Amino acid sequence: MDKRLRWFDEGAHKLRQVLERLPLDGELPDEEFYACPCCLVAYPRAAVAAGLLTIEDVPPKSVGGRPLLLTCKRCNNTAGSDFDSHAAIRAESDAFVRGQVTGRALSATAHVDGIPLRGTAQWTEGGVQLFGVPKRNDPKVQAAHFEALDAYVESRDPAPNFSFTVHTRFDEARARVSWIRAAYLAAFAALGWVYILREVMDPFRDQLKQPDVNILQTYLLRTPDASPDERRILLVERPDELRCVAVVLGEHTIFLPSLFESRPYEELVEVLASRRESDDRLSIHLDGKAVPWPTRAMYFMD
Ligand SMILES: [Zn+2]
Repeated sequence: MDKRLRWFDEGAHKLRQVLERLPLDGELPDEEFYACPCCLVAYPRAAVAAGLLTIEDVPPKSVGGRPLLLTCKRCNNTAGSDFDSHAAIRAESDAFVRGQVTGRALSATAHVDGIPLRGTAQWTEGGVQLFGVPKRNDPKVQAAHFEALDAYVESRDPAPNFSFTVHTRFDEARARVSWIRAAYLAAFAALGWVYILREVMDPFRDQLKQPDVNILQTYLLRTPDASPDERRILLVERPDELRCVAVVLGEHTIFLPSLFESRPYEELVEVLASRRESDDRLSIHLDGKAVPWPTRAMYFMD
């Protein structure tokens, strides 16, 4: 059977079980339905064949994610263009600053004696490699650039007037939402519907709907020396005032509301912020239960 249909059936079955335990007005429909975890719009099984429910990678594929669950096509597409592209460019730009050999070239401009050459830059084992892109340069300026460069090579000047600038454009707030969204989806895949169908999670979905409004005060920690492949979900139990669900995605740790308490999320963010040190680390050890990283939606708590 199509993986998407299998995932639909598992998710729909669990969703019905959870909804049957909730005090709802009215009856549940007989037909099976699955709700997109991002917008909570319910879809029938036929939505899979119609392409309205799609497989989503968590985190996004562009930052090393893998297929994890079904979201609706609209949420999946919007995330790609509104958030995930910013997270991907941010990651590329960080990798460049750290001198990582990624095989990806970034747009760059080199200057010799102030004469520009537009092209690309990338790290190789031998150092930074710059390439001019002919169609982005005036042929005369390009020739002057190489002439000046050759003159420096010939003169063996130990301090040539050479510089380059790498151009990356991303929106920090949107890159952030991309990581928060990935953490929300990973926590959903591990813990299930009971985790996300609570009022305390509403602001997360509102933030995804309105990327340009700052709805969510969040706390996101970056640990630049972490392995990009690291994936962990920790149900933090100690210290007590920091009870939460911590999701580790490579260098990002995202703190989501606790599984059981419905303490306002703002309180958690305030406590976390007060424990933050100048180097962006937490001055405290978080202790709790680790949840296995989901390879598909597992619904452990449903
Ligand atoms: Zn959706």
